[in-house]
Amino acid sequence: MRNAETVTFGASTLDRAAHLRKSADKLAKDPTAQAIVMWRGKPLIETKTVKVAHFPMSHPILKNPDARIFLGLGENGPVFAYDISSWEPDADPDDVSFIDQTLQNHPDAPDICAFQETRAIMALLSRDGAELVAAAKGILSWHESHKFCAKCGAPSDMTEAGWQRNCGTCSASHFPRTDPCVIMLITHGNKVLLGRSPHWPEKMYSLLAGFMEPGETIEAAVRREVIEESGIEVGTVGYMTSQPWPFPSSLMIGCEGIAATTEIKLDENELEDALWATKEDLIESLCGNSDDILPARKGSIAQFLIENWLKDSIS
Ligand SMILES: [Zn+2]
Repeated sequence: MRNAETVTFGASTLDRAAHLRKSADKLAKDPTAQAIVMWRGKPLIETKTVKVAHFPMSHPILKNPDARIFLGLGENGPVFAYDISSWEPDADPDDVSFIDQTLQNHPDAPDICAFQETRAIMALLSRDGAELVAAAKGILSWHESHKFCAKCGAPSDMTEAGWQRNCGTCSASHFPRTDPCVIMLITHGNKVLLGRSPHWPEKMYSLLAGFMEPGETIEAAVRREVIEESGIEVGTVGYMTSQPWPFPSSLMIGCEGIAATTEIKLDENELEDALWATKEDLIESLCGNSDDILPARKGSIAQFLIENWLKDSIS
């Protein structure tokens, strides 16, 4: 589709320089090297400008990290992600709702910086910054949940500058996982199929989505998810664009599908509601004039696909 690469987290401009991962220690001593800082999944952000904060490698905030990942070669030199999740802020976050709105200031970071929930700022980050955050957040969450060998259960060790774990007991190698998830713009003429999950903010609707299963094509996953959740049969399915979605490690595969039926039969275990919305309904919703439908979150591929459908710039 046109504009596909403009989706949030979709820059793909970072040179990951995988061939340099074994030389990460040497790269970390390069005077041009810089690091971004992550804490419990939240990037350290210059909050007024909503920029991902970069630090020289000698900066005190980088001392004693829990993990260091070589992200790749940026415009100005090597870029690392430092995880400092074991740091304890003075006060516990007390506003962890649908989106964590709390900010944490680190004593070693400039006052203009704070750790900030990625969902709250993702649509405001630069394209390069969003890509760094997506990579760092995804890889660090993988390490967090894969500390032990999936084959024998022994503790495993990080290697390849953070892009692999090896088991010293059974010699198995483990690689970061990305979980593919289909998300689909299902249309019937002037209408698009929307659904909402029970835990979402009131009246928020989005495109239907679901994880792919082993042995399944993208097209089959689209048709299965839609009929499971809404009872709608889907005919033609086409790929549109994808979005790295580091919550914690999905790849959203954006598709379009033409509905072959229109009668909704809701799976109440999956969805609280589903409906057909017209283009006019969605324009009202995006303009903030709808009492019935709140749009999907800005920065999400759902909103991106819907906006492009409304602009007629899908294909
Ligand atoms: Zn093992």
